[in-house]
Amino acid sequence: MDVLVAAPLYGTFTYAWPFSDDPIVGQRVIVPWGRQKRVGLIHGLRAVVDGDTGSDYDLKAVERILDEGRLLSAQWRQLIEFAARYYHHPLGTVALESLPKALRVLNAKSEEPVMVEKARAHADRLAEHVHSEHDSPPMNEAPALNPAQSAAVAALVDARGFDPYLLYGVTGSGKTEVYLHAIAQRLRRGEQVLVLLPEINLTPPAMALYQKRLTGHRVVVMHSNLPELARTKAWFEVASGKADVLIGTRLGVLTPMPRLGFVVVDEEHDPSYKQQDGMRYQARDLALMLAKQRNCPVVLGSATPSLESWLKSEQSAYKRLDLTQRAVPGASLPTVELVNTANFPPKEGLSEPVIQALRENLDAGRQAIVFLNRRGYAPQLVCNACGWVANCEHCSAHMVWHKRDMSLRCHHCGAGQRVPQACVCCGNQDLSGFGRGTQRVEEVLEGLFPSARVLRLDADSTRNKGQMEDLLEKAHAGEVDILVGTQMISKGHDFANIGLVVALNVDASLYSHAYRAPERLFAQLMQVAGRAGRRAGSARMLVQTRYPQHPLFSALMAHDYVRFADSEMQGRREARMPPFSYQATLRADHRHLGNCIEFLRNAKAFGEAICAAEGTVFLCDPVPLSVVRVGGIERAQMLVESESRPSLHAFLNEWMNWLTAQKGAVKWFLEVDPVEL
Ligand code: ADP
Ligand code: ZN
Ligand code: ZN
Repeated sequence: MDVLVAAPLYGTFTYAWPFSDDPIVGQRVIVPWGRQKRVGLIHGLRAVVDGDTGSDYDLKAVERILDEGRLLSAQWRQLIEFAARYYHHPLGTVALESLPKALRVLNAKSEEPVMVEKARAHADRLAEHVHSEHDSPPMNEAPALNPAQSAAVAALVDARGFDPYLLYGVTGSGKTEVYLHAIAQRLRRGEQVLVLLPEINLTPPAMALYQKRLTGHRVVVMHSNLPELARTKAWFEVASGKADVLIGTRLGVLTPMPRLGFVVVDEEHDPSYKQQDGMRYQARDLALMLAKQRNCPVVLGSATPSLESWLKSEQSAYKRLDLTQRAVPGASLPTVELVNTANFPPKEGLSEPVIQALRENLDAGRQAIVFLNRRGYAPQLVCNACGWVANCEHCSAHMVWHKRDMSLRCHHCGAGQRVPQACVCCGNQDLSGFGRGTQRVEEVLEGLFPSARVLRLDADSTRNKGQMEDLLEKAHAGEVDILVGTQMISKGHDFANIGLVVALNVDASLYSHAYRAPERLFAQLMQVAGRAGRRAGSARMLVQTRYPQHPLFSALMAHDYVRFADSEMQGRREARMPPFSYQATLRADHRHLGNCIEFLRNAKAFGEAICAAEGTVFLCDPVPLSVVRVGGIERAQMLVESESRPSLHAFLNEWMNWLTAQKGAVKWFLEVDPVEL
């Protein structure tokens, strides 16, 4: 029979079936794999030979059956098959890697880890309880909805069949309430609900809120940082239909949900929905496909929708639900002011108007956010005598100076070392940091406002388990006066007392060569602005920039997403960029850039032969990545574009045949709908 195995090889593997019980598609087994054993997933029954165990074929036999019955439904396999096809990734890898580790990796004795039985038994013990219109408890402590929210809820409750919605609601307009009310009613019909959030750190507050409101329903959370047993338990609860609501990060979309009836993708614009290794999928897009396959409604929510989703709503492929006002009475969006750094040159990164605003805000007893998208102390350590800069040995990148632990760290490969006492070139001891990261701004703020409680929120300060929750709890409890952080603080959080937001270091993104940079910057600024003024009282946002005349800022000052989207959309349309064209990139990695380029050139030549007849697919020249070397490996890529998605995929299918036949040392992968160029 055909078995899927997690291996970077395309296709299924054929094994003989030595057992008297019939094999079941969707059942897991242990199969011999070279000298090892691996978990396999029965995918097809094609090669089962009557009576005989297949000795005629010299097949290896399945060694053991792991699941009594079918573990993975046809519905789940349908989504997995779509994902493998669409992203041109090996089906076995997609299928098995979407499962919790315990379900796909054997232990040292080549047996299934005991935690699988534990988790399965745990789910089996839970009462089977499908809710119905009488027996569901009412929502707890819900605020009365405003008319715009009520209209959105009504639409989402009435929706039947595949029906995508875009909930376009300004920050603080109460989108979460809309989801909760719609979910509560859909649960009453016995449906399961999937809620996707872009970041792990948004799951604890969401979980607390959903559990509080939806008493009597089982709400579970799933993300990659859960302890393995907890994740396996959650998986069985959801897959067995015992859990009603799954709150998950992107991997949640690949969890089997037998009673699925409604899908929510919150903060749908967030780039974190894009997986950046392995199968490089976009979870929002898979959520749409999931809803389509399961014939159920899906709602994408955002104050700053992705241009892809915005275009779909303009074309009426998605129905739009608008929330134009903040939900809390008296709450309003902050006034946005630009500080021209040509007139107010910053000292240690902060200009006089910014310092003044921070002081006034502190005096008023309110909290402030200082946002800058760069962690560490200084992005470069330089010698003031000879101009030497600390670079990573393994990457074409500078080492970032982290002052807290006196280290230099590479943000590309993770390499770290102690800060040298003196310049390694000339021996000079006068080394200094060039540029500013969150740690340095934190230090500057502590110096300026000695009595203020400053707290930093970035990937470094939240590395350990529970740290993020602790820091956020402090912020919510009012034990913090100034929050300094990266984009992490801009996302989704419902802070009650932010009176001021300051944005630093935005200029690089204004004139970046990456075509999505303005869209991303605009969303980040709108989102971080959205953390301020969420309760009654006014609030301000100050943006430091050398380019106050940039059109992005006029839209920001007016809180006018539509204006921004319209002008950005027009630029994309004229340039035939996504969402008006479809792209894929072929990446090549090798120790020598020359080999990457040569591989890509050959791929291009072969590709051009394929599409010569059609002329609908365009292949660009291979180029090195902007950070060409990471961890000693050099990287290059080439872009493939088409104005027709079917043409692009037809081309990729043929191209893949050639690519998978290549035997060289160059590692390659294909990325469909890439986001970083
Ligand atoms: P969004 O997700 O749109 O940014 P939230 O759902 O976090 O907004 O809501 C912002 C705040 O408004 C929350 O504190 C929420 O409890 C409150 N809120 C939502 N709806 C209402 C309402 N109808 N009346 C009063 N407060 C509300
Ligand atoms: Zn020097
Ligand atoms: Zn490095």
